[in-house]
Amino acid sequence: MRKDEFIYQQMLKAIVEHHLLPDVRLPEDQLAETFQVSRTGIRKVLHRLALERFVTITPNKGAHVAKPTAEEAEQVLDSRILIEPVLIDGVVAHWSESSKTRLYDIVKQEKVAEQNNNLKDMIQLSASFHTELATLSGNLVMAEFVNQLTLRSSLVIAVFGSKQSVGCDCGHHHDLVDMLDRGEAESAKVWMKRHLEAIKASLQFTIDKPKSINFKDLFSTI
Ligand SMILES: [Zn+2]
Repeated sequence: MRKDEFIYQQMLKAIVEHHLLPDVRLPEDQLAETFQVSRTGIRKVLHRLALERFVTITPNKGAHVAKPTAEEAEQVLDSRILIEPVLIDGVVAHWSESSKTRLYDIVKQEKVAEQNNNLKDMIQLSASFHTELATLSGNLVMAEFVNQLTLRSSLVIAVFGSKQSVGCDCGHHHDLVDMLDRGEAESAKVWMKRHLEAIKASLQFTIDKPKSINFKDLFSTI
């Protein structure tokens, strides 16, 4: 794994597992020292996290872990509840063996992440499942839209969610792929709506206050 990819994964893991809470400052110099890279190397990772909305970068104030509001979190999920079921018709219309293989492949990886209790991978894989599904609808404008929403959703789940928010009781992604493969568009739409509503219901809007962080200790233990 490339060094910047490694640092990215470590930082994302720390955010998702709530070791780095919303609003915590991410000082370039301390992170550079922790990971033994240049500040430019750290800046590259922070920019990637900022593009994906996990981090905010403000001029003169530097980088902080993003802090979505409860209202924003609800709006992100409400938008997904509106859009994603509508895309199912397109997915069914364009369905092929390769759609099935692509989705089952992600489902398989999700199961491994779940067995290993790896919340970071679970969140990332769940986002790629939904994005892939939207892409398979054939409407690439909507797919791009869903991609943005799932990224924001990943942050929301990282901040307000738990294992329940990804491996939810409303059933596994596997069930949805089975329905799509049988061409059951209506049941798939109902499933998707319930699935996203369950994720929304699993969010808990109380966040602990950030405390001061020793980055060296933190990243030596995760
Ligand atoms: Zn899902």
